[in-house]
Amino acid sequence: MVDCLFCKIVNKKDDSDLVYQDEKVIVFKDINPQAPVHLLLVSKEHFENILDLEENQFDIIGHIHQVAVKMAKKFNLDEDGFRLVNNTKQKAGQTVFHIHFHLLGGREMQWPPG
Ligand code: AMP
Ligand code: ZN
Repeated sequence: MVDCLFCKIVNKKDDSDLVYQDEKVIVFKDINPQAPVHLLLVSKEHFENILDLEENQFDIIGHIHQVAVKMAKKFNLDEDGFRLVNNTKQKAGQTVFHIHFHLLGGREMQWPPG
């Protein structure tokens, strides 16, 4: 996808602080962390947001959640807990228009989110 930041990271045309990858997903540290642990779990395939997924493409979401649990354990967030966030569209806070989930942990969280 032309000029998509996360496609560039997936295709190694841009740097990232890589934590994990497999055939479907890449995980790297957020450049502007909002918690002691703030990882981005990014689909390797470009979709603008989850509204773009066809009915038969939702396995990527289950896979991202499975990797999120693996990362939560790796970063020792499983005892105290963590937050897994997906911002869909601009009004919800989406700034990079390529499907990703935020994994945040290591501090007390507030609710409701701003
Ligand atoms: P969202 O606002 O939900 O679309 O999330 C996009 C996230 O990408 C933000 O938390 C940014 O801090 C993060 N971000 C932007 N550019 C980079 C980058 N080059 N490397 C790592 N994270 C980035
Ligand atoms: Zn992309």
